[in-house]
Amino acid sequence: MSIEALVEISRFYGTNPDYVLAGGGNTSWKDSDTLYVKGSGIALASVVPASFVKMDRNALARIWEKSYLKASDERESAVLADMMAARKAGEEQKRPSVEALLHDILPFAFVVHLHPALVNGLTCSQRGEAAMKEIFDHKAFWIPSTNPGYILAKQVKTAMEYYLAKYSKPTAIIFLQNHGVFAGAESVEGIKELYVEVMSKIGAMIRRKPDFAGEIRESGGAVVEITRTLAELAGGSAAFLCDHEIAALVKDRTSFAPVSSAFTPDHIVYAGSDPLFSEAKTETGLREAWKNHIQKTGRNPKIIAVQGLGVFGAAATEKAAGLALELFRDAVKVAVYAESFGGPRFMTRDQIEFINNWEVERFRSGVSTK
Ligand SMILES: [Zn+2]
Repeated sequence: MSIEALVEISRFYGTNPDYVLAGGGNTSWKDSDTLYVKGSGIALASVVPASFVKMDRNALARIWEKSYLKASDERESAVLADMMAARKAGEEQKRPSVEALLHDILPFAFVVHLHPALVNGLTCSQRGEAAMKEIFDHKAFWIPSTNPGYILAKQVKTAMEYYLAKYSKPTAIIFLQNHGVFAGAESVEGIKELYVEVMSKIGAMIRRKPDFAGEIRESGGAVVEITRTLAELAGGSAAFLCDHEIAALVKDRTSFAPVSSAFTPDHIVYAGSDPLFSEAKTETGLREAWKNHIQKTGRNPKIIAVQGLGVFGAAATEKAAGLALELFRDAVKVAVYAESFGGPRFMTRDQIEFINNWEVERFRSGVSTK
């Protein structure tokens, strides 16, 4: 049964941190009338057949015949309503991945979408598109950074049609700028071959790897004090992380620049879009920096870098604070890998705000950090 193969391939990548963090990514399998796509907020590592939402492909196809309002909020909620209506009978309790539409239009039985740090070193870099062409020629295509959901699916659909007309076959690899990669194949073996190719070809271009030696998770004195203060400010929990790479980044504000904003939607969802960099280590200084940050951004920071010390994750729960640090470390990897492709490139401010305000993403972070 192919649903079993779908579960197997989902867990295969879901349990490998080189491919998946915090459950990020999604997978699907389809036949001619049903799409089985992972439910939103469910970790790939722990999926079972029931984790997939059965969707009516004819109903999904009809979404393309409709015209939606231009304003993003109204449009996304109308598309979401139509997507929910495309669930098959008995699936009403499930919420499909926000990328279900995109899964549906890719003409492959299996589709695996992931956000590996190595891949994002390419997709979040200044020379990403040019480098992709050098590495993959026309075996892959590039989708410029765009808001997820309907607009992204539409852009991929257009690119897909163009590619099909030009090369007479669909491309199996799609890189999404500041987001990740989609791979499609007729079998799970085909998917694995594609990912081996993607990871080894990009890996061969990497000139420097992040140095995560010397990891410190807790230490006495200042770290204990600051952890307590930040946990209180976040109304929950805080955790500390430092290693050689992070120590170099927190030397001063300038050295922190490569990780000072958001690379992908996942980074925003779990680690926030704006890390706080604090020169101050005293309680008063930190409280002041926290207050200024809220005034400037309208929300609590989830990552707090303290000069000369390391980074703290702070959030409402211990799990969320831990995830913030995990995604920050992923951002560090992305920044280091991007050095090999002309240096890091963040999402634009508009794109960052779209994610910060997106109901679908709020749902997702709510599900997976509880
Ligand atoms: Zn994604």
